[in-house]
Amino acid sequence: DRHVFDFAEGSMAEKDLLGGKGANLAEMTRMGLPVPPGFTIATTACREYLDNGDLPAGVAEEITAHLGRLERTMGRGLGDPADPLLISVRSGAKFSMPGMMETILDIGLTDESVHGLAKHSGDEHFAWDSYRRLLQMYARTVLDVPEELLEAAVSTEYAEWDVATPEELPAGAIERACSALKQVIAEQAGRPFPQDPAEQLDLAVRAVFRSWSTPRAQLYRHQEQIPDDLGTAVNVMAMVFGNRGPDSGTGVAFTRDPASGAHGVYGDYLQDAQGEDVVAGVRNTVPLAKLADLDPVSHAGLLTVMSTLEQHYRDLCDIEFTIERGRLWILQTRVGKRTAAAAFRIAVQLVDEGLITLDEALLRVTGAQLGQLMFPRFDGQHDVPELARGVAASPGAAVGVAAFDSVAARRYAAEGWKVVLVRRETNPDDLPGMLAAVGILTTRGGKTSHAAVVARGLGKTCVCGVESLAVDPVARRAVTDEGAVIEEGDMLSLDGTAGVVYRGEVPVVASPVVEYFEGRLDLSAADDLVRAVDRLLRHADGRRRLGVHANADTPADAERARRFGAGGVGLCRTEHMFLGERRKLVERLVLAEGASEQEAVLEELLVLQRDDFAGIFRAMDGLPVTVRLIDPPLHEFLPDLTELSVRVAVGQATGSPDADAESLLPAVQRIHESNPMLGLRGVRLGILIPGLFAMQTRAIAEAAAIVTAEGWTVRPEIMVPLVAGDVELRLVRQEIERVLAEVADRTGAHVPIRIGVMIEVPRAALGAERIARSADFFSFGTNDLTQLTWAFSRDDVEASIFPRYLDAGIFAVSPFESLDVEGVGRLVRIAVAEGRSGNPDLVIGVCGEHGGDPASIAFFAAAGLDYVSCSPFRIPIARLEAGRASV
Ligand code: PEP
Ligand code: MG
Repeated sequence: DRHVFDFAEGSMAEKDLLGGKGANLAEMTRMGLPVPPGFTIATTACREYLDNGDLPAGVAEEITAHLGRLERTMGRGLGDPADPLLISVRSGAKFSMPGMMETILDIGLTDESVHGLAKHSGDEHFAWDSYRRLLQMYARTVLDVPEELLEAAVSTEYAEWDVATPEELPAGAIERACSALKQVIAEQAGRPFPQDPAEQLDLAVRAVFRSWSTPRAQLYRHQEQIPDDLGTAVNVMAMVFGNRGPDSGTGVAFTRDPASGAHGVYGDYLQDAQGEDVVAGVRNTVPLAKLADLDPVSHAGLLTVMSTLEQHYRDLCDIEFTIERGRLWILQTRVGKRTAAAAFRIAVQLVDEGLITLDEALLRVTGAQLGQLMFPRFDGQHDVPELARGVAASPGAAVGVAAFDSVAARRYAAEGWKVVLVRRETNPDDLPGMLAAVGILTTRGGKTSHAAVVARGLGKTCVCGVESLAVDPVARRAVTDEGAVIEEGDMLSLDGTAGVVYRGEVPVVASPVVEYFEGRLDLSAADDLVRAVDRLLRHADGRRRLGVHANADTPADAERARRFGAGGVGLCRTEHMFLGERRKLVERLVLAEGASEQEAVLEELLVLQRDDFAGIFRAMDGLPVTVRLIDPPLHEFLPDLTELSVRVAVGQATGSPDADAESLLPAVQRIHESNPMLGLRGVRLGILIPGLFAMQTRAIAEAAAIVTAEGWTVRPEIMVPLVAGDVELRLVRQEIERVLAEVADRTGAHVPIRIGVMIEVPRAALGAERIARSADFFSFGTNDLTQLTWAFSRDDVEASIFPRYLDAGIFAVSPFESLDVEGVGRLVRIAVAEGRSGNPDLVIGVCGEHGGDPASIAFFAAAGLDYVSCSPFRIPIARLEAGRASV
C-alpha cells in the first residue's frame, strides 16, 4: 500500500487520504497554479504510526523516493552544503485543526548548509535568520523544548543590540543566538539538534503524527465533534522565502470578507517575513490593498489566482501566499471559515452570481449560525465610555469579566461568570481559555491572526490588534496609552462588529433578524443580511418535509411562534395553569373531603382553564394545538414539606398555631414522594385523581366550542403524558371520549379532537405497537425519554455530573441538549416502526428540547417523523434545519 503521494497525483476529493491541506495543494497543482512542488504523507501512515508507535513498513523508502524526485525537480539536494534545498513540513488533517502542530520551516539547514545558503543567496543575514527560525520551531514542536527557554536564548542578544525582534539583529548576532539555541536544545532535549537533514525530516514527520494526540488537539476535536481516529497527513514542500528583503513577503487573503461576507478581496500582508509571522500576529500586518503599491505585478497575479479559486471551489476561499523576490507562490488554500452573517450573505451572493443553486446555498448555512444571528447586540444609544479600538475580527456583543489566561478564564466560567479573554496574541495553547470565554481581545495581529480565525470558527466575539492596550499577563492587568488600568475581573464589553472595547457593561438590544421575525422590521427596510436569511428560510420551507410546531403555553407565546413561522402548537403544557393564585385551588383539591367538594374545586379550575385554552386557540386560528394534560406531581403546587413542618412547629412552640399549615401538613405528608419524577405524575394522576383529566378535557372541548362559535377555526388535540403501557392509555382515552361526546351533545359543536400520547417512557417506546392502536398521534418527550433511558435526573445532573463527564469525554455534548442517537435514538426508531405498524395513520412528532436542536432535527427527519416542536425562538432554526435535511 502506498502512503506517499506527489502533489501532482491527488485531488480535492481525497481529503480522507491526503487531509484538507494536502488535497487542496493537489487540486491547485492540477489547476496549474503556482504551488511549490512537494508531496503528502497520507493519514493512513499516521493511523498506523499511532497504533504501532512506528511508521508503516516501506514509508521511509517512499519518502526517500519522493524526496529524490523533489530534489531533481528543484535541481538541489536537501541540505546540500553548497546550495541546500530546504523544505517545510506541515500537518494537515481532514478538518482544519488549530489544536495541532502546524508547521516547521527551513528543514535542511545545518551548521554546514547554512553557509551554503548564505553564499548562494549572497545574504548572510537571511541564511542565519532562517537557521534561527528552524532551530526555534524545531525545538518547540519536535523536541518539546519550552518556549520561554528558547526566547531567553535569543533575547540576550536583543539587549546587547537594543532591538525588539530577532530579524533586526545583525547576522553575527543571529549566529550567536543560533549557538545559544543549540545549547538549550542539547540540555533540554538530551540530544543535539540533528545535523543530518534526512533525520530532521524523519523526526518532524513523527512529531506531526504525534501532535494528533496532544491534549489540546483532543480538546479541539471534542469541541468540534471531529472523530478521534482520522489522523493527520503531513505535507512536505520545497521552501520559498518571504524573508528575502523588501521585494519579498507573505500574507493571508480571503476572496470575500470572512467577517461580514462583503464582496471584495480581503487580507493581510507582511513584507520581508515568513508565514508564521502573520498567523502568530507577532508583527502588525498591512492590508492587502497596500500590496498593490508595493508590488503591483504580484498583487494582480494574486487577484487572478483568487478569482480562479473562487470559481473553481464555488465558495469563499482563503489563501496563504508568499512572494519571493517578486515571484508569487500559493502555499495553501481552503474553503474559508466565516462568521454566521458572512455565511448567509455569501451563500446568497453565490446564488446570484450563478455559481451555486439555492439548494446548495441552504447547505452552506446552519441552524446554529442562524441562532447566532438572533442574539442581541449592543444598544447604539448607550453612554458607556469607549476604552480602545482594534480590528473587528469576529462579530457579536460580548460582555464579561477580564481574564488574562486560560486558567483564570476557566475558573471564572466555572463560577458562572461570562469571561472576556485578554491576551497579547493567542496560540493553540490558549484554546481552553477561548472555549471558556464569550469574547476574545488581543493587542496584536489582524483579521487572520490565530485569535481571529479561531474565534470566528467558534462563533465567539473577537476584537484583535488593540494596539493602544498593553497587556501584562504576569501582573494580570492591561493599561491603555492614556494610563487607564484594567485588572483581572473587571467588566469589559466587546463590540466585535465595530472593533470597539468598552469598560463596563454595555446594554444590548434585539438583533435585526429577530426584529424582522417579530414583524417590527419591514423587509424593504432591512439590510442584505436579513434579506439573505429570509430568502434561505423561504427556500427551506419549500423544501422541508418536516413540520415545525411550537412549544407554547400562553397566547403571547403562541402568537410569537406563529410570527416565527410555526405550523401549530406541538406542546401546550398545562401546568402553569395551576400556578400563582390557583395554587389555593390545588390545595383545596388535595384536601377535599368527599366528591362534592372535589367537584366544586374542579369546576372553579375548569372556568379558568377554559379561558386559557380559548386564548391559545384564537392565536392559532386554523392551526393544530396539542394540549397536554397535566404532567407534574401535585405536590409541586403545594408548599414544601419541610417549610410546612417548620411553620407548624414554630406555631406550636410560640403558642400561636398556624391553622392553615396544620390543615395542609397531613395531606402534604401523604402525597410526598422520595422520587417524584418516578411517582404520581402524568397519566397516573389522571387514573388516581378522579375528575382531573375529565375537567381538563371539558375545558378544552368547551373552549373549542366557544371559539368556533366566534368564527375561528379550531384544531385541538389532546395528549396524554407519561404513558408506559397501552392499558393506561385505553382507560383515560375512554374517559376523554366520554367527556368529548357529552360536551358535543350539550353544545351542539362537533369539533373533531384527536387523542394522542407522549412517548417518553422507555416502556412506551418498546410497547409502541399496542399503544398506537389507541392513539391518533405520538409525540416523543425526549427530555423524559433521555432522563429515563440514561437514569440521569434532568434537574440535577447538568450541574453535578456533566461537567466532569464532558471533561472526561464520556460525551461531547449533553444528551439533554443533543439527542443521544445511539441509545435514545434507537428507542425512537423502534417506536416509529412499531407505532406505524400498529396504526398506519399515526402522526409522529417530538416535543422535547431536542426538537429545536440542529443535530437532532437531522436525526428526526431521517427517522421519518412528521414534525418537530420547539420553543418559539428556535422555530426559524428548526425550519432551516428541516429544509437542510431535505436537500
Ligand atoms: C419531555 O419529557 O420531553 C417533554 C416534552 O415533557 P416535559 O419536558 O414537560 O416533561
Ligand atoms: Mg416529559
